[in-house]
Amino acid sequence: MKKINRKKLGNQIPLELFRSIRLIGMYQGLPLNGKNTTATVGRKIGQSLSVNTIEDALSHFEELKIGIPTILESNEKAYLVRIDDCFCKGLPVHPGNKVCDLEGAILEGAISRFYRGVETVREEKCNVNGDSHCEYRIKLL
Ligand SMILES: [Zn+2]
Repeated sequence: MKKINRKKLGNQIPLELFRSIRLIGMYQGLPLNGKNTTATVGRKIGQSLSVNTIEDALSHFEELKIGIPTILESNEKAYLVRIDDCFCKGLPVHPGNKVCDLEGAILEGAISRFYRGVETVREEKCNVNGDSHCEYRIKLL
């Protein structure tokens, strides 16, 4: 995925296009808001990233410009991670809707590369839900 040879337009696309693919293509366009698809696709994307620690996974998350993660709490069982400047920042608020499940699944896949137990990433807060930021709880079992 990293091999890009596009002379004029370079290696970036507008956030608007990413949002369209994410929220029209994978959220509105699929049954159950694409729940199963985003989980499968996100994990696969995460597994393709070369990361070896949670910190690595989080810095990749920022490198991919999905958002800026900050670890709020951590112990051997769980991490609580705040995401600032998430790709969803600025979208209209729809209480009851959280839209960053694919991005959480990317983290899940990335962590599964080096963590041999069962782990889950749950989206607990989302800008679109009306929260002040997005937040994930990473549970290590
Ligand atoms: Zn978000």
